[in-house]
Amino acid sequence: MHRPALVPGDFQAMLTMSLFQVQGASRPSRLFMLLWPLAAAVLIALVWWMAVSSAGAERGQALRSALKEADAAAQAYEQYLTRSVAQMDQVSLQLRQSWEQSHGRLDLQDLTRAGMFLDSAFLAVSIVDRLGVVLTSTRAGDIGKSYAGADFFAFHRNNNSSSLTIGTPNGARDAAHAAVLFTRRLETADDEFGGVVVVTAPARYFTSFYMPSALGRDGMVATMGGESGLRIEQGAAAADGPVASVFPHDASLWSAPSGAVLAAGAFPDGRARVLAWRRSPVYPLVALVALSQDEAMAGAELYWSDSRNHALLATVCLALMAVLAAVFSRRAALRQSAEEDLRIAYRTATENANDGFYMALPLRGAAGDIADFEIVDCNERGAYFYGRARRAMIGTRLSTLDGGIFGESLVDSYRAAMQNGFHEEEREMPANHRLKIQWAHRRLVRVGNGLAVTLRDISERKAHVEELQRLANEDLLTGLPNRHWLMGELPGALAQARAGGGELALLFIDLDEFKYVNDVHGHAAGDLLLKAAGERLCSQLRPGDKVVRFGGDEFIVLLAAACAREHAERVAERIVSAFGTPFLIGDELLEVGTSIGISIYPRDGTDAAALIKQGDIAMYAGKTEGKGQYRFFEPSLSRTLQARVQFKHSLVEAIERDQFELYYQPRVDARSGELCSMEALLRWIHPERGMVSPLEFIPLAESSGLIVRLGALVMDKACAQIAAWRAQGLALVPVSINVSPKQFVRGEVHRQLADCLRRHAVSPSLLEVEITESAMLGEQSDILAELAAIRALGIKLHVDDFGTGYSSLSQLQKLKMDVLKVDRAFTAELGRSREGRVFFQAIVSMAHALGMGVVAEGVETPEQLRILQELDCNEVQGYLLARPLPAAELPALMVRRFLFPPNMVAAAPAAPVQLKLVGS
Ligand code: C2E
Ligand code: CA
Ligand code: CA
Repeated sequence: MHRPALVPGDFQAMLTMSLFQVQGASRPSRLFMLLWPLAAAVLIALVWWMAVSSAGAERGQALRSALKEADAAAQAYEQYLTRSVAQMDQVSLQLRQSWEQSHGRLDLQDLTRAGMFLDSAFLAVSIVDRLGVVLTSTRAGDIGKSYAGADFFAFHRNNNSSSLTIGTPNGARDAAHAAVLFTRRLETADDEFGGVVVVTAPARYFTSFYMPSALGRDGMVATMGGESGLRIEQGAAAADGPVASVFPHDASLWSAPSGAVLAAGAFPDGRARVLAWRRSPVYPLVALVALSQDEAMAGAELYWSDSRNHALLATVCLALMAVLAAVFSRRAALRQSAEEDLRIAYRTATENANDGFYMALPLRGAAGDIADFEIVDCNERGAYFYGRARRAMIGTRLSTLDGGIFGESLVDSYRAAMQNGFHEEEREMPANHRLKIQWAHRRLVRVGNGLAVTLRDISERKAHVEELQRLANEDLLTGLPNRHWLMGELPGALAQARAGGGELALLFIDLDEFKYVNDVHGHAAGDLLLKAAGERLCSQLRPGDKVVRFGGDEFIVLLAAACAREHAERVAERIVSAFGTPFLIGDELLEVGTSIGISIYPRDGTDAAALIKQGDIAMYAGKTEGKGQYRFFEPSLSRTLQARVQFKHSLVEAIERDQFELYYQPRVDARSGELCSMEALLRWIHPERGMVSPLEFIPLAESSGLIVRLGALVMDKACAQIAAWRAQGLALVPVSINVSPKQFVRGEVHRQLADCLRRHAVSPSLLEVEITESAMLGEQSDILAELAAIRALGIKLHVDDFGTGYSSLSQLQKLKMDVLKVDRAFTAELGRSREGRVFFQAIVSMAHALGMGVVAEGVETPEQLRILQELDCNEVQGYLLARPLPAAELPALMVRRFLFPPNMVAAAPAAPVQLKLVGS
């Protein structure tokens, strides 16, 4: 059997849509998710490294130039200092000389008055005698003052060096802010200590080198040295007056003759400065210049803060980008994984399916036209169809697969599908095709910019359909074409005859003794006879003539000829005489004649139905006149005959058009009136005649064999109805169906019943079978076996119309019948004659004794019911309770359940009080 594809079309299309998207997308990998932040981190580090290192370089550069600048300033300052001190040196030298030449009679006041020492470089110039008392001074107030305790005085008195010494008043270091003393030893003519020349200069004179504009606000200059540990400093703050010393006290810092360093923590004021110094080559003095590091580095710091800001900005941007990229990558990765899942699901689905599946992308030429297709994916099944492995298929050009398999260029049909969006076809492959398929169904759907192609092997289905077709058109028993085939073929044959202006003869053939053979020799013999009859018919015909088994023991022969009448006559004669020879069936010779009715196109009818009917009528006429002859149709044939055949034909039509409906008549418990079951009664809803009673058509159906089809139809409808009521949620009761004894001939009834129950999933306990008493006459083993088989299914058996036949109760009991349905003729006698009641009573007591239930049919009056209750009859059915009703009216009764009017319940008092409600 053909297995259905697991993936329905739409879902498949959806899947393939995403597959193409996967194909088209620039595969974002999961690694990207990590890569983005990583790359960003590296970039950020690089940016910062560059910022920091360039700022470092900038700082180094700034520091170097600050050191250089400080060094240059120190050099200039040292020269200035040396020059200034040399001036003092000079003055003191001259004074000593003048003093020595004047033999100690030098008046400095005179010299001042003469305009000497007016320079601001001199605070005072004094000469101290050998006792330390100021002899003369440019500052009049100083005369007579004693320097006897001063350091320099002691020094000069004890040292006969005449060189210049530099010091501070009284050795006080801080006083150096105010003044610096330059002193020189004076000697008498006999080289004895004679006194000291003291030149007092303002300290500021030596630091006036300092200018804030050149050295910065935090810049400073200082002079250190001298015997007394001289310290003079000058900075912006000190310009206005003396302040606390800010120069480092550790003189070892500038112990080298010259140098420049960054003295970060050396300054007591906490400021970092670049310090440069020069030692005076002449005097024991060091000239120092300090530049503020902050000021020196300001440019570098500005540069740093700029590049830091840039780096920060870059960091933020990169981080943001990395986050965004990571988010997008993650999304893409999620989508990809979802698509991958889909793809796997899809693959699994299609791999298990029977369909070959391909995805093809167009390959376009320079002009944008589609030159070929590439198979970008396919499933194993799809590759198998082409005898390849899946890997080998993927990447293949469509044109290389093309072998004219589909009767046209594959590329062309793919191209057309690309244009129209869809292409579908079924095709039988040529004999020497390369595909491993006999019949192929192909479906091309444009999805995105590609094609999704399914290729399904429908060979089995095709074979199955062909087989079904053959079965539908062939009679299984004889192998001849059947009625279905004839009804399909005949109109074409008639049209052909009409076109050719020719005639057509139809021979309606019926076996004369078939029923007898069937009844006496069994249906197996009947089957063999039918086969043999079919063969014999064929032996009498030309190859072009058609023999059809029309149904039962009826055959139809179609003869096409220019002069059909004569030809038909000859053939009919041959057939009749051929059937004169007995048939050897088993080891018995059976004499079976045939009656033939002939109708001629166009004389007797122009359509198939009319020709068949006229043939049947002619056959029937021949049979009633005496069997074993043929007869042509004539319009003068008796009306009743025509009507009968007509009726039979319309019954066939009614079965085919399903003009039947089941009515249901309830059966109730005789005491309580509770619904126990209902009988299905067949109705023919004729389009013109309205409702036709089964009394009219059942006998005809039985005699023509149509009862078998009709019976099957009843079973199916009853089971379908039970299933429908069940679906409505109703409390179900069993349904009994009437089965004609003629249905038993083929031994199919129990199988049909079982089939029906299974098809509608109905329990056997919900089905009952009524079979007329007459059917059980004699010991027909077929029927007995069939009844047992039905019972074995769990279906209850009712004996219908009991009393009209001649069966014995003990025989019925042997057959294990469950219920007797007493014919309504006996019910009608109740209350009318004593015998009727006696008879009924006898049946009830005997049936009960044998374990069977009794149902009274045709209960029409309350009196009949009362008597039946008295007689202990089990169940009743009749117009008194309900007429047969259409299925739609039954649910109301099923819900009501108790169908007696209140006054009829057996337990009620004999003469119930009748209440008449006003207005009701
Ligand atoms: P039956 O099986 O004896 O069915 C009972 C018949 O008596 C039904 O006639 C029913 O309408 C009728 N009936 C029921 N209650 C009363 C009543 O109180 N008074 C009178 N006078 N008649 C009553 P219906 O439906 O016309 O059926 C007639 C016969 O046709 C049935 O007799 C049965 O033998 C046959 N028949 C009906 N349906 C089928 C069927 O599906 N298959 C076969 N083989 N035979 C069927
Ligand atoms: Ca019945
Ligand atoms: Ca009956």
